[in-house]
Amino acid sequence: MALASSGTPRSITILGSTGSVGTSTIDLIRRNPGDYVVEALTANSDWQGLARQAIELKARSVAIGDPAAYGPLKEALAGTNIGVAAGPEALVEAASAKSDWVMAAIVGAAGLAPTLAAIRRGAIVALANKEVLVCAGDLVMQEVARSGATLLPVDSEHNAIFQVFDFDRVEGIEKIILTASGGPFRTLDRAAMALKTPAQAVAHPNWKMGAKISVDSATMMNKGLELIEAKHLFRMPQEKIDIVVHPQSVIHSLVAYIDGSVLAQLGSPDMRTPIAYTLAWPARMPSPSPRLDLAAIASLTFEAPDPVRFPALRLVREAVLAGGSAPTVLNAANEIAVHAFLAEKIGFLHIAEVVEQTLAAIPVGPIDTLDDVHNFDKRARETAARLVLGFARTAA
Ligand code: NAD
Ligand code: MG
Repeated sequence: MALASSGTPRSITILGSTGSVGTSTIDLIRRNPGDYVVEALTANSDWQGLARQAIELKARSVAIGDPAAYGPLKEALAGTNIGVAAGPEALVEAASAKSDWVMAAIVGAAGLAPTLAAIRRGAIVALANKEVLVCAGDLVMQEVARSGATLLPVDSEHNAIFQVFDFDRVEGIEKIILTASGGPFRTLDRAAMALKTPAQAVAHPNWKMGAKISVDSATMMNKGLELIEAKHLFRMPQEKIDIVVHPQSVIHSLVAYIDGSVLAQLGSPDMRTPIAYTLAWPARMPSPSPRLDLAAIASLTFEAPDPVRFPALRLVREAVLAGGSAPTVLNAANEIAVHAFLAEKIGFLHIAEVVEQTLAAIPVGPIDTLDDVHNFDKRARETAARLVLGFARTAA
């Protein structure tokens, strides 16, 4: 039982319920029907999937980002009592409606406003949507402190660190170590990477995930975004965050202490383990994730990341050192570049080039307000889109 202590079901909201993390969350809820009541579910455009989930889980309301999907969604839910709304404001309203627990699993900076709405009302927020912390980390963490919200990391690395991080004796922590699978192109040289297609980039060796994060894993930008995420979640300076490539994805991350102890969390590469940790928190609940058979795995290997073949890692460290708007710009440029790569407009190696040139084109400024985030995000998207056109011409 997830909530053995209180016995009352936990009311929950899932932002991005139709995605990879969203459906894994629902898989866990389905296995423990008495423990959860579903307040709201949201999606971007998949109204059929959203309607199916809402009916099955008896959600009180649904919100869909794409206004054009309102009509068909409303019709699909006719005869039910499920509330239906559409548009970006509807996502914020869904996140604002009272519930105990919110899964933030929208992809990209599009998740910032709804995630902030959940944080501002002091909910328990399970955060998968790492771009929220990359584009507006300081502001988001200030809101967490102000509202008293509980932020629980879902990203497997951060969830691992959260489980072994001694929050009461932070002075004993020397550094944190993020593990990276290295993605599908881990062993390739740049000439080979240049030829890779979107289908090859999204075929991750260990994890089954949404398209954007899969491409981010292939460029290793994902690990860079996770470095920024970790910096905010654990208040660690970037020089105390190491990255090590660990192709088996069994050790999900580690915390090194000043006495030489290193604590790790292990598990099979199945997001239902970190999601379950947050869903039942502070209790534990069973998850159907395959159990680790260490003898069958036999060996775990590690190697240093290569910032030359994977320039995203270098760009992220530079953006963190530059501070201010640089991470916001990096994130927005990366979203545009990944989208263009998935649409076959630019090549794989162009992704990091678009990000690098966007960062170079936009002078760093302060991020003091959400308006600053929106302004830099918008400028970066415009600049990156222009660069994409240039690369598209070269490629043709
Ligand atoms: P996904 O593409 O499978 O799903 C994204 C969800 O967000 C969908 O429900 C989609 O409808 C919704 N969405 C997309 N764009 C939107 C928009 N503009 N407005 C409103 N809703 C929108 O993505 P995913 O793989 O589930 O990843 C979600 C987040 O979790 C990402 O930030 C990712 O980095 C992070 N994450 C994912 C995994 C994983 O295993 N998939 C692991 C760690 C972290
Ligand atoms: Mg991760």
